[in-house]
Amino acid sequence: MIDIKSMSYDEIVKFVTQELKLPKFRANQISDWLSKGVTSFDQMKNLPKEVIEKLTSICYISVANIEKKLKSSYDETVKYLFSFEDKECVEAVVMKYKHGYSMCISTQVGCKMGCTFCATGMGGFTRQLNPSEMLAQIEAAQRDLNIRISNIVLMGMGEPLDNYANVVRFIRLVSSEKGLNIGTRHITLSTCGLVPKIYDLADEGFQITLSLSLHAPTDEIRSKTMPVNKKYPVEEAVRACKYYADKTGRRITYEYAMISGVNDTPFCAHALGNLIKGTLCHVNLIPVNPVKGTGYNPSGDKRIVNFRDILSKYNVNSTVRRTLGADINASCGQLRGKNKD
Ligand code: SAH
Ligand code: SF4
Repeated sequence: MIDIKSMSYDEIVKFVTQELKLPKFRANQISDWLSKGVTSFDQMKNLPKEVIEKLTSICYISVANIEKKLKSSYDETVKYLFSFEDKECVEAVVMKYKHGYSMCISTQVGCKMGCTFCATGMGGFTRQLNPSEMLAQIEAAQRDLNIRISNIVLMGMGEPLDNYANVVRFIRLVSSEKGLNIGTRHITLSTCGLVPKIYDLADEGFQITLSLSLHAPTDEIRSKTMPVNKKYPVEEAVRACKYYADKTGRRITYEYAMISGVNDTPFCAHALGNLIKGTLCHVNLIPVNPVKGTGYNPSGDKRIVNFRDILSKYNVNSTVRRTLGADINASCGQLRGKNKD
């Protein structure tokens, strides 16, 4: 079966005119319906019955079904557990900000990277998501909440750069005028640091924000929590980010989950300051979300403030991030883990 939602407009035109031998205006109609988020071909009201039947017999439209939905009682954060055709599940979160709605979506079912603080990492890898399944998460939330998503964060389950071709295709589709038309300036991609792919992404010509999950300033500490560091050490990852910033003019975000007694010492703050001072960047300090079985606890407020103060001596800007939806396990992989239990 053909995954029609993963096709670009030009590919749909080619498919409709060359394979189905239909006039081009049919391709425009099909493309319009797909971008409106229809979930089946019989919702394409202006197509003749035989065209709908033909499409149904050779193509499918990816849909994200809502398995679970949790609303935070503190803020307007909504967390979803979505299932796909094969019953595999991923998580996504919708957050309300001053400027609109931002959605954090998944790019893989599970993850191969095995970070020791991460619920997704603990569960292992199942499969890649197709571009259409990334789009389907956004469309399902827009339908359910009757809103428009204006910002996308690739920070749900999975390592986006480990699903490079599908993620890049998704970015092209979602930012296209014929699609949801969410500009690449409104997209953030978070990676654990697959260095060669960071260089590739820098050369794609997108304006997306790159976020590096750094979480430790030295190889010794980082390799303990992030196995990927043994392959791509801290300095190489930071060098790749500098290349990204130079090439795109976009400020790098460094994610730093504060884990009590692991990466939150003054030594770590000085090492981090030295590592990234003078570069176009911003640091997000996030008290780690304690995940069952990891044994990690979040750093206390005093530690975090002290860490931020040391960074400011290096003129490195940082924000202590408010944790949205803390009561609904809004951090990646936790809801799916619970559902499996
Ligand atoms: N694989 C990508 C994107 C998905 S993870 C990456 O690692 O960047 C999204 C973010 O959540 C990453 O910054 C990751 O390090 C962070 N994260 C994972 N588990 C966490 C936890 N228990 N507490 C705080 N942040 C966590
Ligand atoms: Fe994968 Fe990111 Fe979790 Fe690491 S933090 S295991 S890379 S999802």
